[in-house]
Amino acid sequence: MSLSKTDLQRFKLLLLSQKAELLKAGETGQQAEQVVELDQTRIGRLSRMDAMQAQAMSLETGRRRRIHIVEIDAAIERINTGDYGECYECGEDVNPRRLEADPSASLCIKCAELQE
Ligand SMILES: [Zn+2]
Repeated sequence: MSLSKTDLQRFKLLLLSQKAELLKAGETGQQAEQVVELDQTRIGRLSRMDAMQAQAMSLETGRRRRIHIVEIDAAIERINTGDYGECYECGEDVNPRRLEADPSASLCIKCAELQE
């Protein structure tokens, strides 16, 4: 494993701040998810379809956000257990530049490409 303690600490702080942002965005998103229900009796059919489409999008965004939070938690857990920076599939070191771009990445580039 090629990451120093300082690196790990920095990634951990990065992950924690990303998680805080996602949680904050989640509160706003949940309000958007409730909009359709509240307005259903007052708005016409067409605008209701618009609202439902917007709701579907915000549900999808919420779903992705929750998955990302789980990934971030898992990455923080790997930092705590000393497994951070190793590919979950093959055990090779994950390129640090990849971790800079997405600190919650759990796969090396090779394995991530295989999964797509
Ligand atoms: Zn790998």
